[in-house]
Amino acid sequence: MAPRHVLRCCQRSLSWIPVIFINLVVGWSYYAYVVELCILTIPNNAEKISYLVVFHLFFIMFIWSYWKTICSRPANPSKEFCLPNVEKEQYEKEEHPDTQQEILKKVVVGLPVYTRTGTGAVRYCDRCLVIKPDRCHHCSTCDMCVLKMDHHCPWVNNCVGFSNYKFFVLFLAYSMLYCAFIAATVLQYFIKFWTNQLPDTHAKFHVLFLFFVAAMFFISILSLFSYHLWLVGKNRTTIEAFRAPVFRNGPDKNGFSLGFITYPSILTPTTMDKCQVTALVWTYFLLPFLHPPNSIPGMMDTTWTVMDATSYISRLSPYQAHTL
Ligand SMILES: [Zn+2]
Ligand SMILES: [Zn+2]
Repeated sequence: MAPRHVLRCCQRSLSWIPVIFINLVVGWSYYAYVVELCILTIPNNAEKISYLVVFHLFFIMFIWSYWKTICSRPANPSKEFCLPNVEKEQYEKEEHPDTQQEILKKVVVGLPVYTRTGTGAVRYCDRCLVIKPDRCHHCSTCDMCVLKMDHHCPWVNNCVGFSNYKFFVLFLAYSMLYCAFIAATVLQYFIKFWTNQLPDTHAKFHVLFLFFVAAMFFISILSLFSYHLWLVGKNRTTIEAFRAPVFRNGPDKNGFSLGFITYPSILTPTTMDKCQVTALVWTYFLLPFLHPPNSIPGMMDTTWTVMDATSYISRLSPYQAHTL
C-alpha cells in the first residue's frame, strides 16, 4: 500500500474523533438525565414523566438532524460543468494561463455562471476538472468541489453546504434546545446539591456535571446558531461572509440576497419559483424528514445556483443586466 494512501486512511479515521466525542457526551447525558436524574433522583412521578416526555422529543429531533447532517453526501457540480473532451484536451495541452482562460470563457458562455475569481477569471477547479458553479468551492478535506459550500465542519465530519445546510441549522437549533431544557430542569437539583439536600449517592455528581456540561454547550451553540440565523437571513454562506463573491461587475456581498421573507426557503432547495417558495410554511424546514413538493432530495443539480443567479440579475439595473 502506498504511503500516501496509508496516510489518507489514517486522516479519514482520525477525522471521526470529534464525532465519536460528541456521541459519547450525548450518550452520557442521556444516561445521566434519564437514569440518574429522572429515575433515581426525582421523587415526584408527574414531574418525572413530564420531564422524560419533553426530553425525548428534543433528543430525537437533535439526533435525527445531527445524523442527517453527517450522512448527507456533499452535492457536486453536475456534468455540464465538466469541460467537453475537445476543450479539455486543449486546456491540458496549453501552458499559458491566458489561453487557458480563453478556452474556459468559450465553455462558460452556455452555463449559468455569474461569479468570477478576484482577478475576473472563470473559476475552474484543476483538481476536479470542472468549472465551478456560483457558490461552489473545492473542499481540501473532502477533496471535491461542493455546491453552495458553507464550511467543512469537523464536528459532523462533513462539508456543510447545498445538500445539508437545512439539517445543520436544525442540528444547531435542536441541540441548543436539548441543552437549554437539561440546564433548566436540572437547575433546582443543582442548587440542592450545593445546599446538601440531595441523597448522598453517585447520582448527585451526575446532576452536577449535567448542569455544567449542558450550560457550557448551550452558550457555545447559541453564539454559532445566532450567527447562522443572521447568515440565512442574508442568504450568505460563511465563506461569502469572509470574502464577498465577485460578479462580472465586481464584488457584491449581498449578491445572493433573496430578502428576509424567503427565510425558510433558503434552507430548503426546491425547483419551485420564488412566489411558491415564499408561500411555504415553516413546518417544512422545522422537521428534518419533511421536504416541500418538487424539492430536490439528491441535489445533483444546479437549480439552486440558477435561482440565486436569477435573483441577482433581477436586482441589477437594465444596463448592468444587459452587459452580463
Ligand atoms: Zn474541486
Ligand atoms: Zn469538506
